[in-house]
Amino acid sequence: MKRIAWDQFFMAQSHLISSRSTCTRLMVGATIVRDKRIIAGGYNGSIAGGDHCAEHGCLVVEGHCIRTIHAEMNAILQCAKFGASTDKAEMYVTHFPCVACCKSIIQAGIKTVCYAEDYKNHPYAIELFEQAGVELKKIPFDSHIFRGEEINKAEILNEIKQAAIDEKIPEEYAEKLYLNMTNRLS
Ligand SMILES: [Zn+2]
Ligand SMILES: [Zn+2]
Repeated sequence: MKRIAWDQFFMAQSHLISSRSTCTRLMVGATIVRDKRIIAGGYNGSIAGGDHCAEHGCLVVEGHCIRTIHAEMNAILQCAKFGASTDKAEMYVTHFPCVACCKSIIQAGIKTVCYAEDYKNHPYAIELFEQAGVELKKIPFDSHIFRGEEINKAEILNEIKQAAIDEKIPEEYAEKLYLNMTNRLS
């Protein structure tokens, strides 16, 4: 049995957490990890007990929803609340952090930020991370691991091509079939 790699495991955790987000504009999840252990997680949402964007609509001021606390911040604040050190920790987050979260991440002593998707990657955030010696790693998330499958597209293509030869189906038709199938699989 092939076990899931750590990076994908923690990234999967952040994606799972993001499903709890109450802001409809963007669902973000963050996980803080120390020594391969998850110490905190957060999603973007309103303060505990507050109105949710999902029910009341976003509270947009100057292009940003100000109702929510960002996932990265929520994860850091969970550590503050329950007393877990974030020094030299790693963060796994679904989207590239904004400038405000970037500063909090640096100040909390987090040393590595792994993100799955680019999101308005602000040049100032990139500059600050660099200045602070925070390592940035883009780790695209492979959602197939949630279904316990490992999809090898090249293998599928070869199988279809071979089947096409066996069945005397024209190769372009086989290519089309392959594209159709892989689109459905992704
Ligand atoms: Zn919102
Ligand atoms: Zn943020």
